[in-house]
Amino acid sequence: MNLTHIHTPTRIRGLIVPNRVVRPAHATGMALRGIDEKLIDYHVARAKGGVGLSIIELLPVHASATGFMPGYAAPGMADGLHRLVDALAPYPMRVFQQLWHGGHQATTADGSAPWSASDVPSPGNGLTPIPMTQAMIDEVVEHFARAAALCEQVGYDGVDIHCAHGYLIHQFLSPNTNRRQDGYGGSLENRARFMCEVLRAVRDSVSDQFVVGARLAPDAIKGGVTPGMAAQVASLAEAQGLIDYVNVSLGSGYAPHAIVGGMDQPTGYEMPTSAPVVDAVTVPRLVVGRFRTLEEGDQIIRSGQADLVGMVRATLADPELVSKTLAGQAERVRPCIACNQGCLGGLYSTHMSCVVNPAAGFEATLAEDAMPKSKVPRRVLVVGGGPSGMEAARIAALRGHRVMLCEAQPQVGGALRLAERAPKRYGLLDFVNWLEGELGHLGVDVSTNAYVEAGDVRALAPDAVIVATGTTPRMDGYPIATPGEPIRGFERSNVVSIHDLLSAPDRSWGASAVVVDEIGHYEAIAAAEYLIAKGLAVTFVTRHISFAPLLETTFTNVPSLQRLEQGNFQLRTRSRLVSVDDQGALIAPTYQPAGGNALERVAADTVVMVGINQPNRALHDELAASGIEARLVGEAATANFLGRAVHSGRLAGLKA
Ligand code: SF4
Repeated sequence: MNLTHIHTPTRIRGLIVPNRVVRPAHATGMALRGIDEKLIDYHVARAKGGVGLSIIELLPVHASATGFMPGYAAPGMADGLHRLVDALAPYPMRVFQQLWHGGHQATTADGSAPWSASDVPSPGNGLTPIPMTQAMIDEVVEHFARAAALCEQVGYDGVDIHCAHGYLIHQFLSPNTNRRQDGYGGSLENRARFMCEVLRAVRDSVSDQFVVGARLAPDAIKGGVTPGMAAQVASLAEAQGLIDYVNVSLGSGYAPHAIVGGMDQPTGYEMPTSAPVVDAVTVPRLVVGRFRTLEEGDQIIRSGQADLVGMVRATLADPELVSKTLAGQAERVRPCIACNQGCLGGLYSTHMSCVVNPAAGFEATLAEDAMPKSKVPRRVLVVGGGPSGMEAARIAALRGHRVMLCEAQPQVGGALRLAERAPKRYGLLDFVNWLEGELGHLGVDVSTNAYVEAGDVRALAPDAVIVATGTTPRMDGYPIATPGEPIRGFERSNVVSIHDLLSAPDRSWGASAVVVDEIGHYEAIAAAEYLIAKGLAVTFVTRHISFAPLLETTFTNVPSLQRLEQGNFQLRTRSRLVSVDDQGALIAPTYQPAGGNALERVAADTVVMVGINQPNRALHDELAASGIEARLVGEAATANFLGRAVHSGRLAGLKA
C-alpha cells in the first residue's frame, strides 16, 4: 500500500501540517450551550489517532445567525475555545476554527427576520430574510474579523471562513439568492465582494503567521454557484492574497444531500465538481467526498487532484484510522458505511454519534481505551451473530473475557447479511466483515450453523449469557395504522416479507409488485430498488404522509426517491394495502373521509410487506424461567435500527 503522499507533511502559509488527513468542520450538536468536556474528548480522540488537521465546527460570528454552538462573543465561549485548543495542544494535529454566518438558513437570537443578500426565502426554515444594508454588511464583516482575532488569541492555528453550503457568504455568491442591484450584486466580482471584504478584514485582524482559508462549494442546483463560478471566486481571492488554502465541497440548503453523500455515492464523488476549483488556485487544496481509507486519500494526492483530503465520517467511525493504517493494520480500521444515521440523524436527537462506533461523542464512557479490563476473565456465551451479538462478543473479548459466539446461520452478519444484497447497500457488508475480522483477532470462538437451545446453555454453563437472536418478520396481516382492518388475502403465497425477498435471489417475482412500507426507513426502499433492478414495476405504498420520513435527517431519502423514479415506480403516500387477490392489489387512503371508498387497483404479482418485526425472545425467556440470567440485546430486545443494535451490544459487552 502506497501511503507516502498522504503521510507527507505539508505547509499551509507558514504552518506545517503533519499529514494530509483533515477533519473539515461538521456540526456535532455537542456544543449547543458551549464547549464542554464531551466535545473536547471527541476531538482529543481524533488528535490521538493521528489526524493531521482538524477544523472545529461552525462558530457563529453574529447574533443574526444562531447555530449549533453559541456565538464567539457569548459568555464563556472564549474560555471554552481556549480549553479545547489547550487539550489538543499536546498532539501534532493542527487546529483551525470555522467561522460562520448562516444568513437566511439560520434564525436570529431575538426572533427577528434573518439576514441575507436579498429577500429570497430560506428553503430550510421558510423565513423571508432582510436584505442586508451597508451598515449590516459592515457589522458582520467586523464580527468575522473579531472572531478570527479571538481564535488566534486562544491558540488556534487558523480559521476557515464558511463561504459554502448556502450560508450567508454563499447567499451573496449565488445568483439564486443574490438579487441585489448595488455593488454586491450582479457580476460575479460584485457577488464576491462581501466574501472578499470578510476575508480581508479577517486577514487584517490576525498575525502574519495565522492561516486564513475559505470553504467554497458549487450549489448542485440550477441557477446557483457553478463549479466554474466557484473556481473564479477562489482565483479572485487568491489573486488578492486573501486565502492560504481552499476547502472545496459541494451542495447547499437546496441540495443538502450533495453535501454528505450516502452509501449510494462512490468514493470521491465530489471530485468532478471540485476539479475546476482545485485547478484554479496554487494555494493548498483540500477536497472531500466520502473518502474512507488512507489509500484512497493517497491516490488523490498522488494524482495531483488535491493536497489534502477530508475524512470526517471515516474518522468518526474510527478515530484511529490514521494510526492503525500507518501501523500496517488497515484492515482493523472500523469502516464508515455512509449511512448518515448517527452523524447526521443523531444531530436531531441527543447529539451526533456513529452507527458503527457508539463511542463517537461518548468517549469518556464508551470508548475502547476507557473500558475497564476484567480482573477475573469470565466465560461469556453470545447467542446470535448479527451486529449486536458480534459487537457484544468483541467488547467482552477486548475486556479480557473468554468469549464463545454461536450463530444459527451458515454465516455471521444477521440482518445485514441480507440487507447488503439490495442495490447500493454493499457498504453494510464492510461492517460485517470488520466485526468478523475483529472477532478473529481477539480469539473469539465463533461457531456457525450452531442453533442454541436452553439445554445447550445449561450444558455449557457460561458465567454470562448474551442473547442476540434478532427478529422474525411479522406477517400477521394487521397494518400498523389500521389494525382493525386486517389485509384480505394476506395469506397468499405471493405476499412475502423483505426477508423472503432477499433470501431467494433466483426466485421469479413476476412483472409487478407492491411494496408496503410500514416503517418509513430504508428497508422498503431496498425492497423496491431490488425489484426494479429485476425489471418489475413497483407501487410503493406507505402509511406515512411523505416518502421514508425516518430518513429525512440523513439526507438519503431524496436521492433514494430519485433513483427509484428512474425505474418503473409509483409512489402512494398516506395509503394502505386493503387486499390481495388474483387481479393484483387494492389500496386506499390510510385515513379515508367518512363514507369514503377511494379504492385503487394496482398490478401486483408480488406483494412485499416491510413492517415491524417480531423480536425472537424465546431463548431468553426460557433461560429466565429456569433461573439463568441472560442479557437481551439488539433487535431481540426491541426491534429497531442498526445504531441501537450496535449500541446495545457494546453495553452488554461492557457489563459482561
Ligand atoms: Fe459513517 Fe454512518 Fe457512522 Fe455517519 S453514522 S460516520 S455515515 S457509519
